[in-house]
Amino acid sequence: MAVDPSPQAASIEPVAAAGVALSSTSAKTPLLEVEHLVKHYALPRERLFAAAPRVEALRGVSFTMQAGTSLGLVGESGSGKSTLARQVMALERPTAGRVTLLGRDLNALSPAELRAARRDFQMVFQDPYGSLDPRMRVADLVGEALRALPSLDAAARAARVRHTLVEVGLDPSFGARFPHELSGGQRQRVAIARAIVREPAFVVADEPVSALDMTVQKQILALIRALQDKHGFACLFVSHDLGAVEQVADRVLVMDDGLVVEHGPRDQVFDHARHPVTRRLLGAMPALQPEGSGFRLLRREFAQA
Ligand code: ADP
Ligand code: MG
Repeated sequence: MAVDPSPQAASIEPVAAAGVALSSTSAKTPLLEVEHLVKHYALPRERLFAAAPRVEALRGVSFTMQAGTSLGLVGESGSGKSTLARQVMALERPTAGRVTLLGRDLNALSPAELRAARRDFQMVFQDPYGSLDPRMRVADLVGEALRALPSLDAAARAARVRHTLVEVGLDPSFGARFPHELSGGQRQRVAIARAIVREPAFVVADEPVSALDMTVQKQILALIRALQDKHGFACLFVSHDLGAVEQVADRVLVMDDGLVVEHGPRDQVFDHARHPVTRRLLGAMPALQPEGSGFRLLRREFAQA
């Protein structure tokens, strides 16, 4: 059951670290700077003395993101989107290049510094069933990240969890449930609650709606956009579906074979696509929705031309 988010903010303890991260990003320092990022994966050797074959998943990717903005990262399957997301989240070490978040070089941080820095960035994955521990109740899944904050006692933590559940459109009674008792859309709402509960400066969502049916996709995309408007976090939204990106992203970056092939404001990329990959992705957008404007139809014709 989805409920309307109600404004209970007045009774909620602020998360101590929250505003600090955002305010430490001046207008000049970008939130995120990705410079010449390269990632190779070694594959198993086919013969003992043969050179190990490798996949060049990222071949020199650079871009920046400003605080509070929304960047859609699109590309066909295998183009390197998830690899880029993992380097940006410091889940893997790049082969070369640099990721700077809030002025800090992520790969120069000690493990303890990285743990502390992780409050500023959170990730939402495609498959919430895989990323949510099935033995934990929703309230514990959402509240887990708050345990590291000594400023919040158990009662304040519980209040924040309830508040966050309502924010993602779930009744607070969902806190007592286990992931398997939820629908796919509800699980993704829980994954989003988990990501935003500590008020991060930056959220990376890797194909967050790809496993959901169309109606639920639209609801989750609208939720992400609304939460972003409300909380001001920046969002790197990864998808192979330009239709999804259209709904949440201000800017679009198109990847092909480990390289950025197109990058710009959403409407510029959609209306004046230059690269064949962008045109192909535009051509794959779902047919005109009843509420759609002529715009998208034009885009489709353009893409197919
Ligand atoms: P996308 O998310 O755009 O579909 P990925 O980033 O998952 O693309 O993959 C990019 C390329 O890197 C693919 O060729 C994929 O097979 C390869 N790759 C990704 N992760 C690994 C890994 N851990 N080991 C070996 N190859 C990988
Ligand atoms: Mg992927």
